[in-house]
Amino acid sequence: MAGPLKTIALLGATGSIGGSTLDVVARHPGRFRIGALSAHSRVDELLALCARFRPEAAVITDPAGYDALREGLRALGLPTRALAGPAALDEVAADPANDTVVAAIVGAAGVASTLAAARAGKRLLLANKESVVLAGDLLMQAVAEGGATLLPVDSEHNAIFQCLPADGGRGGVRRLLLTASGGPFRGRSRDSLATVTPDQACAHPNWVMGRKISVDSATLMNKGLEVIEARHLFGLPADRIEVVVHPQSVIHSLVDYVDGSVLAQLGNPDMRTAIAYGLAWPERIDSGVAPLDLAALARFDFEAPDLAAFPCLALAFRALEAGGTAPAVLNAANEIAVSAFLQGELGFLGIPDLIQACLDAMPASPAGSLDDLMATDAEARRLARGLVARGGAR
Ligand code: NAD
Ligand code: MG
Repeated sequence: MAGPLKTIALLGATGSIGGSTLDVVARHPGRFRIGALSAHSRVDELLALCARFRPEAAVITDPAGYDALREGLRALGLPTRALAGPAALDEVAADPANDTVVAAIVGAAGVASTLAAARAGKRLLLANKESVVLAGDLLMQAVAEGGATLLPVDSEHNAIFQCLPADGGRGGVRRLLLTASGGPFRGRSRDSLATVTPDQACAHPNWVMGRKISVDSATLMNKGLEVIEARHLFGLPADRIEVVVHPQSVIHSLVDYVDGSVLAQLGNPDMRTAIAYGLAWPERIDSGVAPLDLAALARFDFEAPDLAAFPCLALAFRALEAGGTAPAVLNAANEIAVSAFLQGELGFLGIPDLIQACLDAMPASPAGSLDDLMATDAEARRLARGLVARGGAR
C-alpha cells in the first residue's frame, strides 16, 4: 500500500533533475502530487508544467517574469498562485502545505531554499550539491534542528546512503569510494585540453545533465564538489573518502567495511532511480529505469583519477582540508569560471587556474553564519569576475 499522498515542492522544475522528478511523479498519481514548481526565467516552460501538474503555487525567481506568469496562469484558467523573486523559493520550501522538497536548483542560488526546507523539517531530496559545499555545516545543523529527512539525490551519495549500515551509524565503515566517469575528456593530456569547446565539454558519455554540472564533470570539479558533499552528508573525514574512475557509470559508489566487505549500488545511469528512492524511501517504487543487463555490459573498468590533467579535483581536496570559508571560495570561483567558459570568455584550462588564484588570494577563515558565507561567496565572485575580465587567472 502506498502511504498518504505526498505533496512536493519542486525547486528547479525546468531543469534536468526537475524533468526526471516529474517523470517519476507522473508514474504514481496516487502517491505524489505537485504542490509548487519553480523556474528561473523560462515562463513558457513553467506554464506548460503548471497546466500539466496543477500546483498550488508557481515561482519565477527572475522577477521580470512575474507578469507573464500571472497572466499566463489566468489565461490557462488555473488557480495556481504566481510568486516571484528568490524569497518566494524559501516560502514554498517551508510551506506546511508541502511535505517534500526537491532541491534541484543549480548553484549557490539554491542554498537559502535548501536551508529553509531543512529548518522546516521536510523530506528533503537534495540534488543541489553546491549548497552543501557552500554551507554544509549549517545545512546539517538545520536538518538536525528542524527534524528534516535528508535523502541524497546525487547518484554517488544516494548509492552510499543505500550501502551504509541501516541503523544510520558508521560502525565498521572504513572508507567511502566515490566513482567518477572521468567525463568526456578522460585519458587526454592537460595540453590537449587547451582548445576544447563548451559543446565538447557538455557531451557527457553516460549522463544527460544541465550544462553547469556537465562542465564540472569534464573538469572533475563535479567529483571534487561531491567529495565535500560526502564529507558533510556522511560525517567521515576527507582521508576516508576516495575517488576511483569507473567509465561505465554503472557502479554508482561503494562503502568499504573493516571486515573487507565492499558494498556497492549499481544501476543504469539514469537519475530517476535516485529520485524514486528519495521520493518513496523506505519503500521502493517503479522509476521507469530499464533493468540492468550485465551480460550486455560485459565488463567494468577502473582507474585512478589523473590529477595532473584535471587539477580541479585536487583543488577541492585542498579547500576541504583548509575548511572554513575555503569551500565557499572554491564553489563561487568555479561557478564564475564555468559560466565564463560556457560564454567563450575563458578557456577550459583557465577554469582550474582561476579557482586556484581565488583560493590563493582568499585564505580560509572560520565560517560562521550564512551571512558570513554569502559575503565570502560574493567576494570570491567579484574577484573571479575581475580575473576573467583581465583575461583569465594568469
Ligand atoms: P539544470 O541547469 O538542468 O536546471 C537548473 C534549474 O535551476 C532550472 O530549473 C533553472 O530554472 C533553475 N535555476 C537556474 N538558475 C537559477 C537561479 N539563479 N535561481 C533559481 N533557480 C535557478 O541543472 P541540473 O542538471 O538539473 O542540476 C540541478 C542540480 O542538481 C545541480 O546542483 C547539479 O549539480 C545537481 N545534480 C544534477 C544531476 C543531473 O543528472 N542533472 C546529477 C546529480 C546532481
Ligand atoms: Mg553525482
